[in-house]
Amino acid sequence: MTTTTTTWRELAAELDAADPLAGVRDEFLLDSAPGVTAYLDGNSLGRPLRATATRMTAFIEREWGGRLIRGWTEGWMDWPQQLGDQLGRAVLGAAPGQTVVADSTTVMLYKLARAAVDAAADGRDEIVCDTDNFPTDRYVVEGIAAERGCRVRWIETDPDAGITLDQVRAAVGPRTALALFSHVAYRSAHLADAPGITRAVHDAGGLVLFDLSHSAGSVELDLDGWGVDLAVGCTYKYLCGGPGAPAFGYLAARHHGVLRQPVQGWMGHADPFAMGPGHTPAAGARALLSGTPPIVAMVPVRCGLDLVERVGMAAIRAKSVLLTRFALDLADDLLAGAGVTVASPRADAERGGHVTLRRPDFRAVNDRLWEAGVIPDFRAPDGIRLGLAPLSTSFAEVLEGVQVLAREAGR
Ligand SMILES: *Cc1c(COP(=O)(O)O)cnc(C)c1O
Repeated sequence: MTTTTTTWRELAAELDAADPLAGVRDEFLLDSAPGVTAYLDGNSLGRPLRATATRMTAFIEREWGGRLIRGWTEGWMDWPQQLGDQLGRAVLGAAPGQTVVADSTTVMLYKLARAAVDAAADGRDEIVCDTDNFPTDRYVVEGIAAERGCRVRWIETDPDAGITLDQVRAAVGPRTALALFSHVAYRSAHLADAPGITRAVHDAGGLVLFDLSHSAGSVELDLDGWGVDLAVGCTYKYLCGGPGAPAFGYLAARHHGVLRQPVQGWMGHADPFAMGPGHTPAAGARALLSGTPPIVAMVPVRCGLDLVERVGMAAIRAKSVLLTRFALDLADDLLAGAGVTVASPRADAERGGHVTLRRPDFRAVNDRLWEAGVIPDFRAPDGIRLGLAPLSTSFAEVLEGVQVLAREAGR
């Protein structure tokens, strides 16, 4: 056991020494949480950057305080699209003009899904979704189905894996209006075959919407190249936008002016300050906006995106794969004997940025971990989810987390 521990410690040190992103870790406010020895939930709420604290203060003093209402005409109005374009370039594989930052993921999901269902040809009255999709996605499509008199066609997915291309092929058909899936499954981290699924849904004549909440900032994306129609996602997870940071919405250019989202507020109007009668949607993805953009909440998103763009998604994904592989190797060595099972894909190409481990008593074990300063996430009924944010997580931190888990799971 001592030898094993030493070996693992040496290996973690080697991996950290060889990590090209090791220095990026110091750009985060690591000392603000005394007692936390392993933060393994950066996929639920990313850590804050040092730059974010500085930039928030500067924003309040100089831009909000200094420019007051003038700030709107001096640039704030364009932030939803500016940030959207940066996100498209740095993270999504989306050309400019198709992405905006606005709303929450839930609200943006509703707007995009409703737009797709409303635009469907007669007879296309089904929304395809899977039973292990994130709760808000399931609830939103059920709400839309009730509102529009359509039906949800549920695909039963394995919670330890995720949606497969064969399942999608079998579920879509002449009645499909929209298919909605998470790209990286929130529970297992299963990485869906987005290009294959997109083709399958298109072959059946439907539109596809991907929820990228666990993908954006962890895996490489090519929305334009894959031919995806619509996408949504969070900025408070891997993109470090802070609690409640706004979401993003992507609407492929070919749907501009065709798909219309239902919450037609003044900020999505072609000329908001004309304040005239009737709603004329703005050109392009701007039409996805409804109300006043959350400018203050976008300041941290800018900081997160600047860092992601500087480092590059290829390097982020490369580290992410090494982190999850390291966590799986540790789990196999230190936890398998304690009755813990791995509930995430083993193949790197099928796994996003987190690893879920299961045992029936893990709810209580997770509580003990939090008390001990190790912070993963618990996912009902029995999963401990290790979220390994590549920009801020070290290999030593993963080792510390799994070792404390092994200790607590052995009690
Ligand atoms: C985190 C997450 C959300 C969150 O939606 P909010 O509206 O921000 O609460 C939605 N979908 C998925 C897949 C998520 O992982």
